[in-house]
Amino acid sequence: MASSILSDCSSSATARLLPFHRKLHTQDFRFHRSVSIPLRPPSPTSSRSAASRFWSLSAVTPVAMTTDTSAKLIDGKMVAKQIKDEIAGEIAKMKDAIGIVPGLAVILVGARKDSQTYVRNKKKACEAVGIKSYEVHLPEDSTEEEVLKHISGFNDDPSVHGILVQLPLPRHMNEQSILNAVSIEKDVDGFHPLNIGRLAMQGREPLFVPCTPKGCMELLHRYAVDIKGKRAVVVGRSNIVGMPAALLLQKANATISIVHSYTKNPEEITRQADIVIAAVGVANLVRGSWIKPGAVVIDVGINPIDDPESPRGYRLVGDVCYEEVSKIASAITPVPGGVGPMTIAMLLSNTLDSAKRIHNFK
Ligand code: NAD
Repeated sequence: MASSILSDCSSSATARLLPFHRKLHTQDFRFHRSVSIPLRPPSPTSSRSAASRFWSLSAVTPVAMTTDTSAKLIDGKMVAKQIKDEIAGEIAKMKDAIGIVPGLAVILVGARKDSQTYVRNKKKACEAVGIKSYEVHLPEDSTEEEVLKHISGFNDDPSVHGILVQLPLPRHMNEQSILNAVSIEKDVDGFHPLNIGRLAMQGREPLFVPCTPKGCMELLHRYAVDIKGKRAVVVGRSNIVGMPAALLLQKANATISIVHSYTKNPEEITRQADIVIAAVGVANLVRGSWIKPGAVVIDVGINPIDDPESPRGYRLVGDVCYEEVSKIASAITPVPGGVGPMTIAMLLSNTLDSAKRIHNFK
């Protein structure tokens, strides 16, 4: 289990956060350690529908919000593998039945190494489950019109069921108008304002939910964490993680608070939560003293910090001080091996759902 409380997080307080280009894709993370909670059996159906159906199974050991001295590990790597196996099975069935395979188009602009790695890993993940991937790689100095032309082509292409524009885009491009151009039916990233708007409204359902927050919710569901009526705090309010995560928790009937960079008493507010989702981008921000005993903690952060002992000279840590929080929470995701692998699994799941919807395949 965790070693000395002072060892990791206190040193990371002074650790230098490495520049973004040194961040690695979640697929590159290696999993290590700890106690796993029994999972639900693999589902033959999609992860989303499986999630809602499985919670009533008595074989599942739920994460009870106790005050045990060591948190259980929420094993995102294992869950993501299970989901990818389910998706591969469904794709094979669909291909047999109607001769269609889902297609995912990725548009990459520029030569950022991290973006290239993300795109390469998405392509690999698609291939592994039987999704056909299409890739357009445009130079840094491309015009917005060129990007829009490719989006329009993919919007009209019946073999493409999902379109993803790799962010960030070069500064001279208007991200909003580019994301708005993606057909809502193919918006597998879930960033289109109509999808986000539907997510925010009672009685409306988005066609797609952004992948990382969807992955957080899937982990909570698969580990049978009770959400209804619980107090949840989301630390961070970005459009891609924090804000949709808060909306999803609210949809699941939690009472939510959002802690952000202007929040005056983040520690006190977070300590009231039964469920904490941290998506900040500040290494080890959430300390043990922020956590109510027995809370469930989902750490989205991926922060590379200097580590002279690592062969690469750095290592990845989350937004949560694992060393401290794992002694107080009832369950926690590790970094790496927690939310990261779930993000790609949810992208594949969204792409499959899109193909099924477009071809009316149940
Ligand atoms: P972002 O920079 O867009 O947003 C950060 C949010 O945190 C902002 O809303 C800001 O208000 C808030 N914030 C900043 N400093 C704060 C502080 N001191 N206290 C409270 N709130 C503070 O970041 P993002 O895109 O949401 O990503 C957050 C983290 O999650 C990063 O580490 C990123 O690498 C990681 N991430 C991981 C995945 C994954 O697949 N695991 C996906 C996306 C992002």
